[in-house]
Amino acid sequence: MSGPLPEPRPMPKSTDDLNGQFWANCATGQLCFQRCLECDIWRHMPRYMCAHCGSHKWEWKQSSGKGKIFSWIITHQAMHPKFRGETPYAALVVEMEEGCRFVSRPLGITNEELEIDMPVEVVFEQINEDFALPLFRKAL
Ligand SMILES: [Zn+2]
Repeated sequence: MSGPLPEPRPMPKSTDDLNGQFWANCATGQLCFQRCLECDIWRHMPRYMCAHCGSHKWEWKQSSGKGKIFSWIITHQAMHPKFRGETPYAALVVEMEEGCRFVSRPLGITNEELEIDMPVEVVFEQINEDFALPLFRKAL
């Protein structure tokens, strides 16, 4: 007996080379952000120009993967059918040690355990052979 096919997981779309490189780095288990070569500011989302100094000179640099919870929301209504069974779930804003902020989800942290400034670290969930999703667990 067969039922309906499971809903496929929505995947990020690489809208340009910068987003594509970000996800390619994640696929190798590296959380990398851009760092401005003029003012040393780290940034995320990927973009060509530094919002701090206007420079177009930058490099990809691997993050320590460590940060702390800056904020979060609890989602009670799934915005995609794939996540219906997972509500209520948290979406985190993590402030990385390097200073940029990153939106993700917690792994192994219940909604009730979430705290502002909780130390967290990245862990990659391997979605398929070409894609790994950066999530955050309590820092060890
Ligand atoms: Zn800059």
